[in-house]
Amino acid sequence: MIEKWKKKLGLDKWTINTEQIDPASVTYPDDCVGDERFFVGIMPQEESLYATIFHDRPLTEQDVVHELLHVRHPSESEEWVNKETIKQMTITEINALTWNVPDVLTDVFNQFDEDADAYKEIERLRILALELGYDFDYGLSGEPTDYWKLK
Ligand SMILES: [Zn+2]
Repeated sequence: MIEKWKKKLGLDKWTINTEQIDPASVTYPDDCVGDERFFVGIMPQEESLYATIFHDRPLTEQDVVHELLHVRHPSESEEWVNKETIKQMTITEINALTWNVPDVLTDVFNQFDEDADAYKEIERLRILALELGYDFDYGLSGEPTDYWKLK
């Protein structure tokens, strides 16, 4: 799983290790409850292209993508990394022949007005899609090329 995401995110040259840590060795704030009590974090060493993911619960694929994104984009915020994680995990290239697009999103694309300015029109539809929890990329003539979930 880590190898797959290293490749996808352009981190081929990195060595990524994981290390299970004892929950008792981590100090949590007293007001920290539920899921917040778990710890997953990464310590990248830029010079040696070596990073260790520390975790005190079983790692999920989402954890791995999240932590590798921190390595790939060290200056981005936690909020950006959270959004990008969902994007990377759900992005789907649209196949015009099989039309592998969810119905809610197809309903949005069907509202495209061919007579209007393509750019303004697709940006109008993008706002509708965002409200439904999706975002997408599009080509020069306003044709959607791929989509992903926001949550
Ligand atoms: Zn993070």
